[in-house]
Amino acid sequence: MDTSIPNSQQLWFLPLGGTGEIGMNMNLYGHSHSWLMVDCGATFQSPLDPKDDDNPRAKTYSVVAPDASFIEARKDSLCGIVLTHAHEDHIGAVTAIWPSLGCPIYTTPFTAEVLRRKFYQKGMYENLPIVEVAQNTTLDIGPFTVSWLDITHSLPEPQAIKITTALGTIFHTADWKIDRQPVLGKPFNKQLFTDMQKEKVLAMVCDSTNSLKPGYSVSEKACEKGLGNIISRARGRVVVSCFASNVARLITLVTIANQSGRYAALFGRSLENMVSVARRCGYWPDELKLTHRRHIGYLPAHEIMIIATGSQGEPRAALNKLANNEHRDCDLEEGDCVIFSSIVIPGNEKPIEKIISRLKERKIAVFQSEHTSEIIHASGHPNQGDLSDMYEYVQPKVAIPVHGEQKHMIANAEVAKLQGVQKQLVGKNGDLFMLKPSVAIKRKFVSTGRIALEK
Ligand SMILES: [Zn+2]
Ligand SMILES: [Zn+2]
Repeated sequence: MDTSIPNSQQLWFLPLGGTGEIGMNMNLYGHSHSWLMVDCGATFQSPLDPKDDDNPRAKTYSVVAPDASFIEARKDSLCGIVLTHAHEDHIGAVTAIWPSLGCPIYTTPFTAEVLRRKFYQKGMYENLPIVEVAQNTTLDIGPFTVSWLDITHSLPEPQAIKITTALGTIFHTADWKIDRQPVLGKPFNKQLFTDMQKEKVLAMVCDSTNSLKPGYSVSEKACEKGLGNIISRARGRVVVSCFASNVARLITLVTIANQSGRYAALFGRSLENMVSVARRCGYWPDELKLTHRRHIGYLPAHEIMIIATGSQGEPRAALNKLANNEHRDCDLEEGDCVIFSSIVIPGNEKPIEKIISRLKERKIAVFQSEHTSEIIHASGHPNQGDLSDMYEYVQPKVAIPVHGEQKHMIANAEVAKLQGVQKQLVGKNGDLFMLKPSVAIKRKFVSTGRIALEK
């Protein structure tokens, strides 16, 4: 008998990626001889040994994923992959890893469309395993009853997942924050989460990204004013760099452009792809007009807004080319401005700094969210206030912080403790979190690792 597969008296959580690190999430839930995978993400420019994460001299690979060999060896017991949302750290490894698993993939329409295009890029068009589920749906997958719950984050259709089994319920928050004015999609609905109290949730597996930050996460709506203020003062070209998947931010920017007499153009393939997915899924307002990038060079400077990829300093992205005056569709000049409607993801400081100093040398103004009093970026993750409220709404018996480094997960556990959650389990990839018959951690249950998907 394979004792690494749970029996009908056991309910387990086993993270293979994203617990003890930020990026490449891969989670397994186990019960009654079956596994369910939640998310299958990738990370970028990373070393293969987690010990090298802070070592600037370690060899890095452009796309890295969790080693899934544990579940590949037991694929007959894997009844499905559930995807919570379309960020790369949650879906980026699917096309590489799914062929060795072969199970159905369940997700909502926007995430499904992003994923289908990833399969197409790999030349896979037929018999795609994707099962589209509507938001707020419940589905039986093997011994798991899986409910998709609308939550708020920083792209269309973010979903939290409730997993109900004969032994109890687990609430997997995935990435979230409390946003009462998300610009796109419905506002945060507290009721969905307080309703769970009657089920006496066994464990809440929760995003820790911003758990070191006090107070509440800023609403997406707050960016409208800050971006509007800076853009209305600009006299030359405006370039804004942001994360391509943040469709709400793109809508805000193009609205500001349309209202202030600027033509907005997208510079960068991932932006074009995301807007095209948003259009197909009905998220792009028909009245918002975009101008083709080829036409931008013919317009007067004060009529131009460029939305560009490359906010993390990516060398081949549009922003770096604009900074180096190497973009074939537009030359920037003294008096133009560049707005980083984004954060600096740790590890990317150097390439971003390089772009900024090049822009400043050319007398182009730079606005970064970290150094500007205006709100020009809103994170998609929960601060301590959001976390505390969610623990109060759900009242789980056990808190399991994930999606963070050790320090983030410890801070998240501390919030849970203050909110009266009985037990907090802080572990890392490969640790087995046993929830039934009793609550305990088995450290290093599975040996985990990283694999390079691209050099
Ligand atoms: Zn994430
Ligand atoms: Zn996310």
